[in-house]
Amino acid sequence: MANKRRLVLVLGDQLTAEGAALRAADKTRDVVMMAEVRAETDYVGHHKQKIALVFAAMRAFAEGLRADGWTVAYTRFGETGNSGSITGEILRRAEEHRAASAVTIAPGEWRLRQALEDCPIPVVQLPDDRFLCSEAEFAEWAKGRKSLRMEYFYREMRRKTGLLMAGDDPEGGQWNYDAENRKPAQADLFRVNAPRFAPDGTTREVLDLVAREFADNFGGLEGFNWAVDRNGAQKALAHFIAHNLADFGTYQDAMLEDDPLLYHSLLSPYLNLGLLGPLEVCQAAARAYAAGKVPLNSAEGFIRQIIGWREYVRGIYFHEGPDYTARNHLDQHRKLPWAYWGGKTEMNCLRHAVAQTRDLAYAHHIQRLMITGNFALLAGVDPAQVQEWYLAVYIDAFEWVEAPNTAGMSQFADGGVIASKPYVSSGAYIDRMSDYCGSCAYSVKKKMGEGACPFNLLYWHFLDRNRDKFAGNPRMAVIYRSWDKRKPEDRKMILGQAETMLNKIAQDAF
Ligand SMILES: Cc1cc2nc3c(=O)[nH]c(=O)nc-3n(C[C@H](O)[C@H](O)[C@H](O)COP(=O)(O)OP(=O)(O)OC[C@H]3O[C@@H](n4cnc5c(N)ncnc54)[C@H](O)[C@@H]3O)c2cc1C
Ligand code: SF4
Repeated sequence: MANKRRLVLVLGDQLTAEGAALRAADKTRDVVMMAEVRAETDYVGHHKQKIALVFAAMRAFAEGLRADGWTVAYTRFGETGNSGSITGEILRRAEEHRAASAVTIAPGEWRLRQALEDCPIPVVQLPDDRFLCSEAEFAEWAKGRKSLRMEYFYREMRRKTGLLMAGDDPEGGQWNYDAENRKPAQADLFRVNAPRFAPDGTTREVLDLVAREFADNFGGLEGFNWAVDRNGAQKALAHFIAHNLADFGTYQDAMLEDDPLLYHSLLSPYLNLGLLGPLEVCQAAARAYAAGKVPLNSAEGFIRQIIGWREYVRGIYFHEGPDYTARNHLDQHRKLPWAYWGGKTEMNCLRHAVAQTRDLAYAHHIQRLMITGNFALLAGVDPAQVQEWYLAVYIDAFEWVEAPNTAGMSQFADGGVIASKPYVSSGAYIDRMSDYCGSCAYSVKKKMGEGACPFNLLYWHFLDRNRDKFAGNPRMAVIYRSWDKRKPEDRKMILGQAETMLNKIAQDAF
């Protein structure tokens, strides 16, 4: 019956064969629709590799559905008739296939949810049950709590999943082994490289398309080394568990100039696109621990990132509402330095973090938090511009996960919903956790004066200019006390030199 036919909209980050919309559909009657459209490629200037990964993975997924017996209406980028937006494509396909409504998984972004609500034909948005904690469950957990700290949420998720539990207690007696996880790393010639994913014909076609159509977007395509289907993503998972998980915990905060990946998993794009599920990834880590192949601090640290942080930030994004991304608690309005897009800077750490982001569309958590994030926060950059940058440049960036990490965890723009204090540091932290400072034009040891590390100057400027917001925070009292103990003339000099540095940053001359 033609009038009962529904479209099943599968978005580029919903590439899960058992996703709620496909489960709700009838293979013999309904039509799956997928579309590569301008509105999605252009709402921020995505990294070339990100567009390439999403398109290549969408095309591979569509082929898999066809092989499985689905009718798939797939709109390629630039093909004749492509209306350029998701809702435009829904209307076009509805007419073509005489469908009266559509069903989809609710998008991970307020912008698209609203667009689907406004669509002239009804689009049912089903809860995204690929996450372990539903939006309703998160709201229940958050109800009546004074503060929404990740650690308590995480414990609930451990209990719920049974991961690393010994009965009612956490494996090993502690919930969190982060105290063992803050070691700097040494260059290691024997570290196992990431697996290679040679592009297949579809991927090569997409890489050509992106090189042609998005030539001015940030980033290079040469380093593209991502799996584009579930099979490849499972290989990446197996490789990580076998080679890198054991040392993941110990070195997860470390940074090395010549080793941008260290022991990180690089699984975020596969998780966020739906090629891997959070539970299967965590169960693989828990099995490796149970088999005695990896230590508890690594298995726990890794699992916490996924069932803790990943689920928690998504909960926060939807709990806080559509205005979350517009918040600017610290009233910061400076422009994002050109160095973030590859412009010149003498700061070795920032230069390296941006260069690897350009080449790989990837930087690990501490580079994002303590180099690019820390610097933007100290330099007073408008959080909306910082968010736009993070949303654009990383292979795994989708708003539900990018925004809370950037606006909340990194920029304190939400006023402390996520972080109990701002993630700021002077150069000493970067020096301890990396080898960047050795070859920097600035001196990390110099707290002030010619050539002093910009982090050292701006750190105190940040604390001083935000005193009214942080002085009452018990976790920051010691820092303010140590600032107040400094000689008044030193404080004045540091603040003056920080002002000069801020002016240089504004002129992109630092
Ligand atoms: C400012 C800022 C912006 C970020 N933007 C994104 C983003 O757009 N997309 C994204 O997926 N992650 C983001 N993160 C979180 C984290 O940096 C990445 O998930 C991680 O670097 C991905 O690399 P990996 O897969 O090698 O992670 P690993 O270090 O191997 O960690 C394992 C997994 O844990 C999950 N994870 C770890 N930390 C977080 C976190 N804070 N929030 C959510 N999931 C986490 C990821 O799924 C990751 O794959 C951001 C962090 C910061 C500080
Ligand atoms: S000295 Fe400062 S700017 Fe240079 S690498 Fe170290 S932390 Fe970065």
